[in-house]
Parts: sequence; C-alpha cells; structure tokens
Amino acid sequence: MASLQSLRGMADLLPEQIRLWQHVEATAREHFRRSAITEIRTPLLEVTELFARGIGEATDVVGKEMYTFLDRGERSCTLRPEGTASVVRAAIQHGLLSQGPQRLWYGGPMFRYERPQAGRLRQFHQIGLELLGFADACSDVEAIAVAWDLLAELGVGGLELQLNSLGSSEDRARYRELLVAWLEQRRGQLDADSQARIHSNPLRVLDSKNPDTQALLAEAPSLASALSDASQARFAAVQQSLKALGIPFVLNPRLVRGLDYYSHTAFEITSSQLGAQATVCGGGRYDGLVQQLGGPATPAIGWALGMERLVLLLSQNEASVAAAPALDLYVVSRGEAAAALALALARRCRQAGLAVERDASGAAFGKQFKRADRSGARWAAVIGEQEALDGVVGLKDLRVDGGEQVDKRLTPEALLVALAAGPPRP
Ligand code: ATP
Ligand code: MG
Repeated sequence: MASLQSLRGMADLLPEQIRLWQHVEATAREHFRRSAITEIRTPLLEVTELFARGIGEATDVVGKEMYTFLDRGERSCTLRPEGTASVVRAAIQHGLLSQGPQRLWYGGPMFRYERPQAGRLRQFHQIGLELLGFADACSDVEAIAVAWDLLAELGVGGLELQLNSLGSSEDRARYRELLVAWLEQRRGQLDADSQARIHSNPLRVLDSKNPDTQALLAEAPSLASALSDASQARFAAVQQSLKALGIPFVLNPRLVRGLDYYSHTAFEITSSQLGAQATVCGGGRYDGLVQQLGGPATPAIGWALGMERLVLLLSQNEASVAAAPALDLYVVSRGEAAAALALALARRCRQAGLAVERDASGAAFGKQFKRADRSGARWAAVIGEQEALDGVVGLKDLRVDGGEQVDKRLTPEALLVALAAGPPRP
C-alpha cells in the first residue's frame, strides 16, 4: 500500500528542528513578559465573514488564499489566514476595550492557499503583537522596538527596517483619486494583476512585483506629497523617536497596506539573506479596524512575524543554534535489576529538575556510552549488575576526554547532591 504524505505546503517540524523553534518561542515569551504584553489565544477556525470584513475582499488573502468550507451545520468557516482579525473580534466580544488599552500578543499556525516555496507555506506560523487603544506616535515606535529588539536578542543580523506613512483616511482618499486617474491613463502598460486592482485596491499596485509596472510607477504621484501637514508632522515624530532610540530605518514610499482602515505608520523588517521571501515582519497602524468589525472607535497598531522565515535565518547562524538547551544526565544500565534502578534514578533526578534520558536498549555498555556522547549530556550515570545489587551508581563526566569515571559508588541521593552542587572532584 502506498504510504500517506502530508498535504503540499504543510510541513512537519521534526525533532532536530524543534529545539530552535522552542528557543525562538521561549525568547519571544520572555521578551513580551518584560514588555508587559499578555498572550491571547483565539480559535483556528472562525466564521468566514470575520476575514471578509477584517482583511477585505479585495486582498489576495481573502480573494484567493483562504481555506473556506461549510461545516456540518452549513456555516461558512475559514481557517485563520492571519491573527489580527481574530484578536480584534475577541477583544470586542469580551468587552476588553472597555477595560482600557490592551497590549496583546499571539502565536501559532495560519493557513493560506499559496504556491509553496522556501519561506512560503500553506500552513505557516506567526508571532504577532497588537496594541489596541494606543494613538500616539510613541506607541508606533514602541511596537516597532519590541519587534526589532526581539530579533536582535535572537541574534538575527543584517536586517533592514523599512518605513512609510499612509496618512489619515482623508489623505488616502485624496491620493486614491489621483492615483486611480493616473493609472487609468496607463492601463495598457500595466501587468494584468495591476489592471484588475486599479479600482478595487489601487494602492496595492504600488507594491506590484512586476518590473515593468515598477519602472512605470517611478513617475506616479507620490503618497508622501498627498499627506496633510498633521500627518507629515506625525510621521516626522515617528522618525525622530526611532532615531532617538538608535533604531536605523530606510524610507520606502512604495510600502503599502492596501486597506482603508490602515493609516499612518506602515513598516516591514526585511533580510537580504531570504531571497524572494525577504519580509520577516510586517505591521502598521489600523485605526479603522475595530470599528469596522463592530467595536468602538479604537486606534491600534500591530505587527506579525513569520516564524519559518525567522527560523530559516537563525539556522544559518551557529551561535543561535547552540543556544538551545541540552541534557544534564544520561543513564546507562545493563540487566533487569540495573534497569529498575536506572528508571528510579532517572525519575528522582527529573523530580529534582534535571533533564535526564534513560537508555532502554540493554545493549553493550560501549554502545550505550556512544549514545550518551551523542546525546549532548554533561554526565552519564552507570549502573551494572554489581551496582544494582549494592544500590549505587557510577558517575562519568562526559566532557572529559575518554569519559573518566570520577566516582564509582554514589547512592542515588549522593549523586543528586553531587550534580546539584556542580562538578564533583575525584
Ligand atoms: P508576503 O508579501 O511575503 O506574501 P504578506 O504581506 O502576505 O507577505 P503578512 O500578511 O503581513 O504577509 O504576514 C506577516 C508575515 O508572515 C510575513 O512578513 C511573513 O514573514 C509571514 N508570512 C506570510 N505569509 C506566509 C507564508 N505563506 N508562509 C510563510 N510565512 C508567511
Ligand atoms: Mg502574502
């Protein structure tokens, strides 16, 4: 019978990869704790309308990429393609916004039916931040700094922060008219995707990946020139504050988020080491979204970072791989009585907080010691037939060449004390 395979674009995370993932997750969790940002967990499945309203029908995500189906009750459901809409729905549904501003983060799988390639999957993972009820320019910079510092703490180098301002909704409405008129006059010179977007989502044309369209757009009216004085002053304040924090950035007037509820700050953090899928983290201000989803008018800013792309960057960097934790103790034993003592010893040490693996193979000691070396453990506990009879354990320092046995006869309790106290002396 043919063996079954996972679906295209849906990856298994195998044991050898998981340490790096857990390292990223643990670092992020600690980073958010220090930033007074609380985790929120929402369902993977939501009513389809949430994303139609919360992301927008005119986007690729809603238009082409969603996993949507009818459940057994004939309701249209969608596997979440991103986290923001769900977090905002939950905040409205549970009245969180009446309790004051919310500092929230989330993590987990997202689903988009895209063409899979390096750094682009159909089930992928994001970590994201949402600051709900925050209006001032410093909040934009705080959100950016949390992302920037997390990536720095993880040791990701060579990153670039790209920044733009989309202005207020009035600014954008004015600009939209200018842009649509300009694009209409050049319809024949645009790629097919961009032609289709002229009216549905004209700002996204600025983001086109087509080189001919990009060349043409060099002459297009600029969004920056359409910003009101107040919007320009706000954007200047964001830049000033980033400079004061020493966070470098480049202005990218083509960086857009094509939906009406996005406003003012938009940013991406990119890496030149990722090829075509260069964006690790993207975010911006979405002052109109909470209201769009039926909540009270609430200014907000957030971002999401792609775990697969981040892990890809980190796996190119040996220091961050080595930061993942290893075993403390590897227990080898031979014979039935020895195995029973090994089991009790492993359990006792785990209860005391040590990371312990018990070799259950019953193979020759030589083979078990090879595995002990490969395990990365600091110590090996050795239990042969005689040790089992006497109720004692041998201890071997696996970091010393040849693994010299430092103390032949320790009771399990004495071994615990010795390991807790650090390296025992012969
Ligand atoms: P892209 O232009 O690469 O498609 P996007 O604008 O669709 O990105 P967002 O919706 O802003 O991406 O999601 C934030 C981050 O999530 C991206 O910067 C990226 O790191 C990651 N991401 C998005 N889609 C995928 C995917 N299909 N596979 C892996 N990571 C993804
Ligand atoms: Mg995309």
